[in-house]
Amino acid sequence: MSEHETVSALLSLAAAGVLSPDEERRVQAHVHHCADCGRELAVWRLVAAEVSRAKTEAVPDGLLERTLQRLTHVEGLRQESRTGDAILAFLMLFSWTVGAVTWLAFRLFAGGPSALASPTLRGTLMWIAVSTLLAWLTAGAAAVVLSFRARKGGTYELT
Ligand SMILES: [Zn+2]
Repeated sequence: MSEHETVSALLSLAAAGVLSPDEERRVQAHVHHCADCGRELAVWRLVAAEVSRAKTEAVPDGLLERTLQRLTHVEGLRQESRTGDAILAFLMLFSWTVGAVTWLAFRLFAGGPSALASPTLRGTLMWIAVSTLLAWLTAGAAAVVLSFRARKGGTYELT
């Protein structure tokens, strides 16, 4: 085995800083006149730096596992209630659209087209309040619809 091959096998360990002083000196002496090994060592040092950075930024023990478990759980629930979610999403969107159209109609009626260009804070707050109320009412209606369907033997569950 040539010196190049021997040192090449040690480069990743050198970057990780786990070589003995003798091996370290051997690597340094070789990369001094071997451009290939010098480049490879530089790459390994970047990798080692990334790994140690990732370690210091690591999340607390168990958090990653717990988060993954939670996501898996949520995904499972999502599969079960996808149809219910789609109905809810549609109704929410519908009620927001109705709220927006109502507000636009109100603005047009109250102040003409120019009022649209300068919506007052009060009008905006009113629209938010009305559309939020509509959204809540729609969600309530959707809950009734879904529980009704569940009683009829459907698979939806809201809890
Ligand atoms: Zn070399």
